Amino acid sequence: MATAVVAAAGGGERLGAGVPKALVPLAGRPMVSWCLEALEASDGIEASVIAAPPGHEDELEGVARATLARLPFTIATGGSTRSESVANAIAVLEDWTELVIHDAARPLAAPALFDRCLERLGHWGCDGVVAAARSVDTIKEADAGGRVIGTLERGMLWAVQTPQVFQAGPLLKALTQGDLTRATDDAQLVEAVGGDIRVVEAPRHNLKVTTERDLKIAELLLADLRG
Ligand code: C5P
Repeated sequence: MATAVVAAAGGGERLGAGVPKALVPLAGRPMVSWCLEALEASDGIEASVIAAPPGHEDELEGVARATLARLPFTIATGGSTRSESVANAIAVLEDWTELVIHDAARPLAAPALFDRCLERLGHWGCDGVVAAARSVDTIKEADAGGRVIGTLERGMLWAVQTPQVFQAGPLLKALTQGDLTRATDDAQLVEAVGGDIRVVEAPRHNLKVTTERDLKIAELLLADLRG
């Protein structure tokens, strides 16, 4: 059984809602409650830690208490970057072998996606597995002036999401040795220390809410998928 870390400590300035993104209302509930519900419904998760924005720990605790009936949770204080928030959350854990890391900003992840990532981690015996969607766009690399350097092979490109799941040893090594101020996901820290990371195909609709428009799209998708 795995432990889940929920990265929920972002400020969400680009949403302009005046409250941290995890607490922004989405379809009538704080955004973070959607992923907590999905984590609780996953078969492979037995405990959770939520990284809260500094100063908002009590509010996050209230949301978790109102959402979770069975899944034990702990609140940790987040850091100034996403990776630091994840590291702070891991620091409060005592005993774990497999970790599921998920962003509160991805409210559409289904319980089956968490389970599939964990199942693949065990099946492949690798260091980490990341949920990702195949690129449907052609991706070009360009220099600072916008001049195209090349076109990447689309069949090999994946847009990476969360959940990302890891074995304890490689993740702890990566968090100790990596540059936590620059990483945009956890897997790249493990890759940087030579880790074996693999992708599991996930739906494109597992989107990350960044802007007000994303919030509206997520609301429509939630109504469509769960209503
Ligand atoms: O800012 P962005 O949307 O890329 O953040 C992705 C996730 O990381 C969000 O769920 C956010 O709450 C979390 N985060 C965090 N601590 C930070 C910054 C972001 O837990 N310092």
